[in-house]
Amino acid sequence: MSDQALIQDLQEAIGVEKVLTSLEDRIAYSYDGTFEQDLPDVAILPESNEDVAAILRLAQEYDVPVVPRGMASGLAAASVPFGGGIVLSLTKMNRILEIDEENHTVRVEAGAITADVEAAVEEFGLFYPPDPSSNEQSTIGGNIACNAGGPRCLKYGVTGDYVMGLTVVLADGQVLRTGGKAIKNVVGYDLNALFVGSEGTLGVITEALLRLTTKPRAVRTARAEFPALEDASRTVNAILDAGVVPATLEMMDETAITCIEEAMGLGLPLDVEAMLIIETDGSDEETVLREIETVARVCRESGAREVIIAKSEGEREQLWRARRSVSPSLARKAPNKLGEDITVPRSAIPEAVRRIKAISADYGLPIVIFGHAGDGNLHPNILFDKRNEEEWKKVQQIVGEIFQVALDLEGTLSGEHGVGTLKRPYMEQALGRLSLDVQRRIKGALDPHGILNPGKVLPGP
Ligand SMILES: Cc1cc2nc3c(=O)[nH]c(=O)nc-3n(C[C@H](O)[C@H](O)[C@H](O)COP(=O)(O)OP(=O)(O)OC[C@H]3O[C@@H](n4cnc5c(N)ncnc54)[C@H](O)[C@@H]3O)c2cc1C
Repeated sequence: MSDQALIQDLQEAIGVEKVLTSLEDRIAYSYDGTFEQDLPDVAILPESNEDVAAILRLAQEYDVPVVPRGMASGLAAASVPFGGGIVLSLTKMNRILEIDEENHTVRVEAGAITADVEAAVEEFGLFYPPDPSSNEQSTIGGNIACNAGGPRCLKYGVTGDYVMGLTVVLADGQVLRTGGKAIKNVVGYDLNALFVGSEGTLGVITEALLRLTTKPRAVRTARAEFPALEDASRTVNAILDAGVVPATLEMMDETAITCIEEAMGLGLPLDVEAMLIIETDGSDEETVLREIETVARVCRESGAREVIIAKSEGEREQLWRARRSVSPSLARKAPNKLGEDITVPRSAIPEAVRRIKAISADYGLPIVIFGHAGDGNLHPNILFDKRNEEEWKKVQQIVGEIFQVALDLEGTLSGEHGVGTLKRPYMEQALGRLSLDVQRRIKGALDPHGILNPGKVLPGP
C-alpha cells in the first residue's frame, strides 16, 4: 500500500488536524539536539491513548517505523527519524492528571514539560527532584525514555528513581499499565525499569506516575576556586568522606570558566584551573548551614584558594548563573561543540580529567570539561568547526578516545543522554555480546516487526 493510503487511514482513525504532512511541518520534526537530521514522511500529534494505539496498529499493518518524540532536546540523535516513517510527537499529551498530596505522587501525561511538573507540585509544598538542565525544553516522557539526570542526582538520584508506574502503548497497540502507588511492589519483573532508558524502542510511554518528596526548606550554596584541577577533582571524594552528601556538586574547568567569563562578564577568576559549585539542602537551616561550612572547610584543606558561601537568594542565583551559562557560552567560542556524557567511578575523576586534557593537547582541539562531578558524570565538550573536514575527522577520533578513557576506568558511555545512534558503535565494547543479545531478545519480544524507533540503541546483529 502507498504512503498516501497510510496517511488517509491515519487521518480517518485520529482526525485530519493531528496528521501533519507539509514539508515545513516535516522539517520541524526532523531533528533533535545534535547535528543529525532526516525527514519523516509524516508527523502526528496524538491526544489520547486511543490515538497512540490506533497509530501503532496502522504502523504495524503498513510496516512503517514510528519514532516517539518529546521536545527533541535529546543529545544522542535518538528521536531523529532516519529513513523516514512516522514521528509521533507526545507534546499535545501534556496534562497534569493528579497531584496526590497524601501519597506524594503526581500522575502526568508523557508530553508534560518537566519544569511545568516541578512548578505544579511546588504549589503543594512538594518536590520533583530530577532536574535536567533542559527542564524547560524536555518532556517527562523523554526524561523517562533517556533516564535523564541533572545536578541534583548526587543526593536525589535520576528520573528512573522516581517512576512508580507507567502507561505504555505497545507496538501492537495494546495499552500496558505498570507499577502503581504502593511504595513496595515486588510482584513480577520490574517493567517500570524496563521502559526507563528504552529510548522509544520498546513502547510509547503515554502516562507516568511519579514519586515526589517534600520540598527542602533550607538551601545553601558555595563556590570554591581551585588553582589546581587535580585538587578540585580530589575534593569531591573528600566532601563525601566528611559525611556530607550535597544536593549538587558541579565542576567546571578553566576553559569553561574562560568561555563563561568572555560571554557573560560575571567576574569569575581567570587564574584558577577549576571551580566547584556545591549546594547543601534539608529541612532545617542550622544543619544545612553547618554542612555547607563543613564543605567550605574541606575545600580549603584540599587546596581551594577561595570559597564563597552565598548569603542571599540573589547571591545564590549569581553563583548558579555561571554553571547554567556553560553551554550557551561555548557556542561563542567555536561554531560547533560536541558534548559527551561519560561516567566514571568518583575516585577515577582526576585520572579521567588528566587523560582527556592529554587527548585535547594531542589533537590540538579544545575540550571543555564540566559536569556533575559528585556522581562521576563528566561532560567533555569538544569545540570545533564542522566545516573544516580535518577537524571533524579529529572530533570523531577524539570521541572514540574519550569513550575508551571511560571504559578503561570502569566507567561507561553515558550517564544521562542515552545511546541513540551516536553511541551505538561502542555498545558491544561497553556491554559485551551476551548483554546485547539479551537486549535484542527483549526488543524482539516486545516489537517483533521492529517498527519502534528502529536503528536506535542496539547495534545490528
Ligand atoms: C541545553 C541542553 C541541556 C541538557 N541537559 C541535560 C541534563 O542536564 N540532563 C540530561 O539527562 N539530559 C540533558 N539534555 C538532554 C535531553 O534534554 C534529555 O535527554 C531529555 O530527557 C530529552 O527529553 P525530550 O522530551 O526532549 O525527548 P526527545 O529528545 O524528544 O527524545 C529522546 C528519546 O526519548 C524517546 N521518547 C521521547 N518521548 C517518549 C515517549 N513518550 N515514549 C517513549 N519514548 C519517548 C525518543 O524516541 C528518543 O529516543 C540536555 C539537552 C540540551 C539541549
